[in-house]
Amino acid sequence: MRLTRYVLPLLKETPAEAQIVSHRLMLRAGMIRQSSAGIYSWLPLGYRALQKVERIVHEEQQRAGAIPLLMPTIQPAEIWRESGRYDAYGPEMLRIKDRHEREMLYGPTNEEMITLLVRDAVKSWRDLPRILYHIQWKFRDETRPRFGVMRGREFLMKDAYSFDLTAEGARLSYQKMFVSYLKTFARLGLTAVPMKADTGPIGGDLSHEFLILAETGESQVFVDKALLAKDWSSVEVDYEDPASVAGIFESFTSAYARTDETHDEAIWAETPAERQVSARGVEVGHIFYFGTKYSEPLKAAAIGPDGQPVTLEMGSYGVGVSRLLGAIIEASHDENGIVWPEAAAPFHVALVNLKQGDAAVDAAAEKLYAELTAAGVEVLYDDRDERAGGKFAAMDLIGLPWRLTVGPRGLASGQVELRRRKDGATEELTPEAAAAKLIAATRGL
Ligand code: ATP
Ligand code: MG
Repeated sequence: MRLTRYVLPLLKETPAEAQIVSHRLMLRAGMIRQSSAGIYSWLPLGYRALQKVERIVHEEQQRAGAIPLLMPTIQPAEIWRESGRYDAYGPEMLRIKDRHEREMLYGPTNEEMITLLVRDAVKSWRDLPRILYHIQWKFRDETRPRFGVMRGREFLMKDAYSFDLTAEGARLSYQKMFVSYLKTFARLGLTAVPMKADTGPIGGDLSHEFLILAETGESQVFVDKALLAKDWSSVEVDYEDPASVAGIFESFTSAYARTDETHDEAIWAETPAERQVSARGVEVGHIFYFGTKYSEPLKAAAIGPDGQPVTLEMGSYGVGVSRLLGAIIEASHDENGIVWPEAAAPFHVALVNLKQGDAAVDAAAEKLYAELTAAGVEVLYDDRDERAGGKFAAMDLIGLPWRLTVGPRGLASGQVELRRRKDGATEELTPEAAAAKLIAATRGL
């Protein structure tokens, strides 16, 4: 993409309304614009990053056996009455009437709808277990929308739902989703710690919130340092093997990790003082098993092996996809701007032409742009007629993993400059060597 043909409204000033760094940087880098409180447009650069995150979530869900579908944003009130949640949900739910005075709502979540779909589609124990999911916009009229996309009113969520014949089966489905969350967040360069969450009347150990540690987080968290020291980036699992799945679940749930909602001083005291970490955290995912809470009132059952109907055992599994963009930036930035982890970066490389209009520099930059693009490297080509300082500051702000600079001085000795955003490591290379390195570095992303 050529910057002269793109829409990238960078802000020089720090917007006064933004209280946390990710919100400031998303506004300054031209990723989002607020349209009303907690409701945002995703500008081209932000939308690209959002799509990267979405794709990784899709891939890891499907790797764990979950099946994608798409349910609507608008739901009939009736199905929420059937489940008994319509009145209980409160003012966070946006309630709407259509022209026929029928009561509708903008979905804050989809348990009712998916339960009805599965009730009609799944008849027999032979059709189970199943995990279905979608990535769809939600609306919750939050009391205090704030921190940009972190706590929006309209936000993008991945919500998966599992259906099993037995509680034991539901436990395996839960554990598969648990493992897929570890893998999803690791690919995004995040350590999202699963913390014991409230299970309500169901009890048991099958509810976890995944939190990344960040000073600006809304939750207080208590974590055993030993858990943080684990290798989060190379979890290997065989989803077909229940023992493999359960083993990973056990190993990431055995140490203490709780939010203030479930924190227990007496149990915490069993963790040696030098291993106690108390910090702030941002919730990026929440998974829980809730048995027949929805399948019972909505009459979702399957015929079991003995010919008798069995009410389905369910769980639900949410990821805050749009919130993740804020969380990634909270976890990865410096004083100059965003530092994208490679997998979520909106483009792989910023190609900077230091002397737009100089025939030799233009030709070398154009050639690199064409070659890299043809090889599948995503290049944002800064072909504006601007001073070098301004270009570098802009590219640091948007934080692409690599910056490739073509200028008259280097070119005179046959070299371009390749710089890694993460640590500033810089190399002078021939254009061919630089291209080869970028192609290798971005392969498979
Ligand atoms: P929170 O405790 O942050 O209010 P929640 O418990 O209401 O979240 P869930 O219903 O578990 O959220 O939703 C699943 C995921 O959706 C959460 O883990 C979070 O990442 C994301 N999410 C929830 N509310 C918002 C919001 N207002 N804006 C952005 N993301 C959200
Ligand atoms: Mg939650």
